[in-house]
Amino acid sequence: MARVLVCDPVAKEAVKKMEDGGLTVDVKTEMSPEELLSTVADYEAMVVRSATKVTADVIAAGKNLKVIARGGVGLDNIDQEAAKAKGITVVNTPAASSVSVAELAMAHMLAISRFIPQANASMTAGKWEKKKFKGVELFKKTLGVIGIGRIGQEVAKRALGFEMKVLAYDPYLTQDKLGGLDVELVGLDQLLAEADYITLHMPHTDETHYLLGDAEFAKMKDGVRIVNCARGGVVKESALLQAMNSSKVAFAALDVFESEPVTGNEFTSLPNVSLTPHVGASTSDGQFRVGIEVAEKLIDLLG
Ligand code: NAD
Repeated sequence: MARVLVCDPVAKEAVKKMEDGGLTVDVKTEMSPEELLSTVADYEAMVVRSATKVTADVIAAGKNLKVIARGGVGLDNIDQEAAKAKGITVVNTPAASSVSVAELAMAHMLAISRFIPQANASMTAGKWEKKKFKGVELFKKTLGVIGIGRIGQEVAKRALGFEMKVLAYDPYLTQDKLGGLDVELVGLDQLLAEADYITLHMPHTDETHYLLGDAEFAKMKDGVRIVNCARGGVVKESALLQAMNSSKVAFAALDVFESEPVTGNEFTSLPNVSLTPHVGASTSDGQFRVGIEVAEKLIDLLG
């Protein structure tokens, strides 16, 4: 029976599914890099999320490895070149957490429209500052979605439910790929000029690095609200800070940062932010789906 080493936490139902599918599973989370190096040789498959780094050394030590399964979207923590060179299959679960991330983006849009983080902090400090927290509605506002793939489309559906007008910029998609969604694909400049809210949902690549920088903020409406639940680095943080200082950007909601973890930076002391510590995919529902999908893929490949 093929042996699977689970290095980062996955749903217990996923472990059971793998076992029912004929795999032998050992769950050993929080191993040090050294422990991982000395353990991995015994296994045909590894399951990781984002915490475990599958370096070229780990791959070299994994003499029996046939599959590396990443629960989640990105593969940045896996040395894919080294895996390919050894003929190891790398799989991930790109769609399993799309709704979780989309719902966080919507939560942030509402938070920065209704002062929810600020009002909560005020009340838990024993205050009742009713006049201070006059918000705005999403209704009839224009949302600009940059990158309208899996997550971007889930956000668009939800924004349409709030009766927003949705524009999207995505150089790699055409209208017919949007499944009839009432979204208008436009150029980036038009999106920047017309959006009241801008939310980003593309990968961080050389091409998208600092896609929103000084020049792009200058093209936006005064008082625009920015949501980044994609990756740190797609928005240039220094340009965003400057745009917030000049009131070009009224509010920003950030789940991701140029450098993580953040334990206090220029954003954490601002009054007009909604911040979360990279938890876009962190829901029990999303993680359940991630685990089950990983289990199904491993059973397919090794069972
Ligand atoms: P996806 O591949 O389905 O969609 C990404 C879209 O971005 C594609 O349609 C692509 O054409 C588009 N794109 C590529 N380059 C672009 C550019 N230069 N300008 C505009 N659009 C561009 O991916 P997805 O599943 O929707 O995930 C999107 C991103 O969300 C991921 O790459 C990841 O960085 C991020 N993410 C964040 C979290 C979190 O915890 N906050 C969790 C999961 C994913």
